[in-house]
Amino acid sequence: RFISLEGGEGVGKSTQLRRLAEALRGRGLEVVETREPGGSPGAEAIRRLLLEGADERWTAEAEALLFAAARADHVARTIRPALARGAWVLCDRFLDSSLAYQGGAGGLGGEAIRSLHEVGSHGFLPDRTLLLELSPERAAARLAVRDAAGSDRIGGRGADYHAGVAAAFVALAEADPARFRRIDASGDADAVTARLLSAIEDLS
Ligand code: C5P
Repeated sequence: RFISLEGGEGVGKSTQLRRLAEALRGRGLEVVETREPGGSPGAEAIRRLLLEGADERWTAEAEALLFAAARADHVARTIRPALARGAWVLCDRFLDSSLAYQGGAGGLGGEAIRSLHEVGSHGFLPDRTLLLELSPERAAARLAVRDAAGSDRIGGRGADYHAGVAAAFVALAEADPARFRRIDASGDADAVTARLLSAIEDLS
């Protein structure tokens, strides 16, 4: 099974991905934890191009192409082989992040992003996408802690951009209720993990 976790920055995706993986391993499953941009040697090289440059290094178009290229490599080299041997793959961000960031907030539109995904990854989609949702105030508080520790972020984007991302994620979830589950990411970590597990129960 292929599961993606989505949401804005500071909602706790990475922590919850680790916890979800542990819970599934506890059930005897092989679980591969991976992330975007990255997850294969080529895609990690592209990650550095995206995250280590100056703020606003790339135009929205160039950024979308780099994400699509990274995803194509990641799908072919890491995700598909893992699924083929029967592992579960948990991915921190996938296509929906490109739709919400570059397509929605970045203004390119969904059609352009989806067509890049067709070319790069043959339209490959997760079995389930878990959208973690947290109020902007709480996400900002978590981000302040994370930034102080020096984490990867694309900077130079204002509150309007991030509000656009959040709105785009909600619209994507509403358009595809079979694949998406919206998860309340507030409260303690155990409670959030329990919500995530119940949102994939039907897949096992
Ligand atoms: O997943 P994480 O929050 O660590 O993402 C790293 C950076 O890449 C963040 O600044 C995120 O907003 C950005 N990003 C993006 N477009 C994507 C995926 C991630 O701008 N499609």
